[in-house]
Amino acid sequence: MRVLVTGGAGFIGSHLVERLLSDGHWVRVLDDLSGGRLENLDGVRNHPCLQVVIGDVRDLATLQAAMEGVEVVFHLAAVVGVPRVLADPLRTIRVNVEGTERVLEACAERGIPVCIASSSEVYGKGVRWPAAEEDDLRLGSPTVSRWAYAVSKLLDEHLAMSWARRGLRVSVVRYFNVYGPRVDPQGYGYVIARFMDQALRGEPLTVYGDGRQTRSFIYVSDAVEGTLRAGLLPAASGHIFNIGHPEEISILALAERIRVVTGRQVPIRFLSFSEVYGPGFEEAPRRVPDVSKARVLLGFEARVTLDEGLQRTWEWWRTCRRV
Ligand code: UDP
Repeated sequence: MRVLVTGGAGFIGSHLVERLLSDGHWVRVLDDLSGGRLENLDGVRNHPCLQVVIGDVRDLATLQAAMEGVEVVFHLAAVVGVPRVLADPLRTIRVNVEGTERVLEACAERGIPVCIASSSEVYGKGVRWPAAEEDDLRLGSPTVSRWAYAVSKLLDEHLAMSWARRGLRVSVVRYFNVYGPRVDPQGYGYVIARFMDQALRGEPLTVYGDGRQTRSFIYVSDAVEGTLRAGLLPAASGHIFNIGHPEEISILALAERIRVVTGRQVPIRFLSFSEVYGPGFEEAPRRVPDVSKARVLLGFEARVTLDEGLQRTWEWWRTCRRV
């Protein structure tokens, strides 16, 4: 197939591109390199079936040209990562909402199936855990910048569901803390990137708060598999899927795990949220997915264990990472 991946030079996007190429597809990447890096595509740069277009997904002429001849779209281009969102919530909302709106319209005009990347951040502070796709959501106040990202992604999801009701083949994937090689210290996989960076430099691992907040981490090749199934299987249309690993771990336990995996006996340093993010920051205290819908409808389950995934990420981090 001929596939368009927006955000294809980003962390998850570049892994998706590699996988699509190795599966025999022709791939066009559209990325403005605001968060992505061309280096992420180094391994496939000279592949005859890859075309890279540098541009903003919101620019209509750029998007129209990028859609030319395409049979399926994966829309991953977005402002992601807590630091970037806090630095510019307005840009976060604009890029994430306008971008998705334009991509959905372009796909609807041409009748092209599309998979929209969303985030577990939409669960916010959470109503119940593990969280399922049709559960209620609990977000903080708009006076707290952090929630701008969740709201932008939630609006993307509403746009997607509205277009689905009008007959567009569209699915949504909610990623739960994806990590792996090429993890972005400013964007996705922030905590793992930071801990590995600190371990490599022999500096203390900075645990925010008391470290008892939890997350579940999914290795990038698993996240790509779930994304492909959601984008390519007709049965996925009109649905939202949690793409996550069901193992829940506290951030303090993660720091300890990273000390073991890296073999660096660095100390752990606790920092309060206000020290790091300033006053009024709100944390998501827990986050773990109910994965049954993806298992039943997509036949998808994450396979890579946290230890295995951390090992592979560390291998890349200490040998290949370029700052
Ligand atoms: N975190 C931490 N130390 C760091 C970076 C992050 O303890 O140096 C924590 C953060 O407070 C959160 C978790 O790690 O509880 C995951 O943070 P990240 O920004 O990666 O993603 P989030 O799940 O919060 O969007």
